[in-house]
Amino acid sequence: MKLFDLSGRVAVVTGGNGGIGLGMATGLAMAGAAIVIAARNPDKSEAAVAELAELGARSAFIPLDVADPQSCRVMVADTAERFGRLDILVNNAGMSIRKPPESYTVEEWHRVLDTNLTGALVCCQAAYPHMQRQGGGKIISIGSMMSIFGAAYAAAYSASKGAIVQLTKSLASAWAKDNIQVNAVLPGWIDTELTRDARRQVPGLNERILNRTPAGRWGTPTDLAGIAVFLGGSASDFVTGAAIPVDGGYSAEF
Ligand code: NDP
Repeated sequence: MKLFDLSGRVAVVTGGNGGIGLGMATGLAMAGAAIVIAARNPDKSEAAVAELAELGARSAFIPLDVADPQSCRVMVADTAERFGRLDILVNNAGMSIRKPPESYTVEEWHRVLDTNLTGALVCCQAAYPHMQRQGGGKIISIGSMMSIFGAAYAAAYSASKGAIVQLTKSLASAWAKDNIQVNAVLPGWIDTELTRDARRQVPGLNERILNRTPAGRWGTPTDLAGIAVFLGGSASDFVTGAAIPVDGGYSAEF
């Protein structure tokens, strides 16, 4: 059995045009999968497609605003039409609004929840019939250390990421009968555009992360490539409903 061979598989990575998403897309592509980069920014997405093509992967950009349910449905339908199947869905698109909880407007709260949580659910719902018809599939949703811990500046983000773990367990329970495995990955602190903003906005964050992470460094997007291959392929066929930290030990140490 080829545990880590994804040849012939088709993967959608939401927000796959940079950061963690592109790191995971790179892993999936190197294992042989065709990749759909689903995000908003066309230039960034086409650059990611070109990067994946250099690895020899078949890849395409399909526009997505994950906060818009209809956009999620159209993106999945386009994927199935253009690639003929959908085997792996990576729910990675995400954002944060950093401010004290008492100052969130309801609109800001919904913007974070709609992007990070509701968008993931709608993509899963859209992918489900395709995976069911094919006899199985793999869903990987990106949580966070804030699926476990809270933060004074990230009430909406941590609520969305905590909920991703519970959503993962429920979908895993519901769709195990269809041979669809649903898991969450909880990255530690990874050097991306998102966290570069956080480092600017949150005083002392960089030093706190370095001191607190047993591995003694920030992660890189390619640190997430291996878990994507594991959870995207048959090596993980009996793993479902799990939330796996990839965090250099951040969540292990008191
Ligand atoms: P980036 O900001 O680099 O990537 C976020 C991606 O999401 C972008 O590619 C962006 O593309 C896409 N995106 C944002 N909003 C939308 C939207 N409405 N519709 C479609 N795509 C969208 O951040 P990271 O790589 O760091 O983050 C990726 C995921 O990992 C997020 O879910 C984040 O919460 C999570 N995470 C990150 C950690 C870190 O330390 N970096 C730690 C833990 C979790 P575009 O703008 O083109 O739409």
